[in-house]
Amino acid sequence: MTDFEARRARMVKHQLKRRGISDPRVLAAMSKVAREAFIPDRYRYEAYRDGPLPIGEGQTISQPYIVALMAELAAITPEDTVLEVGAGSGYAAAILCELTAHVHAIERIAPLAGRAAQTLETLGYHNVEIHTGDGTRGWPDAAPFDAIVVAAAGDVPQALREQLKPGGRLIIPVGAPGEKQVLKRIIRIGEKDWKEDLVGNVAFVPLIAGEDTENTG
Ligand code: SAH
Repeated sequence: MTDFEARRARMVKHQLKRRGISDPRVLAAMSKVAREAFIPDRYRYEAYRDGPLPIGEGQTISQPYIVALMAELAAITPEDTVLEVGAGSGYAAAILCELTAHVHAIERIAPLAGRAAQTLETLGYHNVEIHTGDGTRGWPDAAPFDAIVVAAAGDVPQALREQLKPGGRLIIPVGAPGEKQVLKRIIRIGEKDWKEDLVGNVAFVPLIAGEDTENTG
């Protein structure tokens, strides 16, 4: 076992299982994906720290527990089509790739999207498409989705609600930057009917809707 593998195993035990993550598929994915591969060299030794880390462009890779919690709440099955908004480093997208064969992820900062695509390719994930653009509009070309996971906090974009299949799950942190944010799970129960529940308090980078962001696939 390499040092990173040992730290990953400890992360799963101490940060995830002890906090109640219990879905075996999520635990298996978190045990498998090399988080260190998504982290810039200078922070790599901290890859299994219990918190977010800088990935450049003022953005962060989310805390492992949050990635696992959102994946568990999304209740993904192997046939699901899943969208992630805020691909960042691509780490959470890799976890989603372990859970289903069909993943789309959008990132508004082009250099991050490029790096994420490259890392995922290097690790052999071919079941994901990384798009550059504004994820608050969703990704109509691949909609509707069984699950949408949003990795940045703001309001709930209507486009994301509308791009859920019936029964589809939207996992999203809601709230302004620097203020109290809550993680919500929104389930589409009818054509114009959604039910939501609050999961808990979280801290995410802001979800930025941009008119100037071009959706370029
Ligand atoms: N899931 C990522 C976490 C990245 S942090 C990981 O595993 O590394 C959230 C990301 O959301 C940032 O990279 C930020 O640029 C991006 N983001 C913010 N608003 C966005 C939007 N409207 N559309 C797409 N990406 C957005």
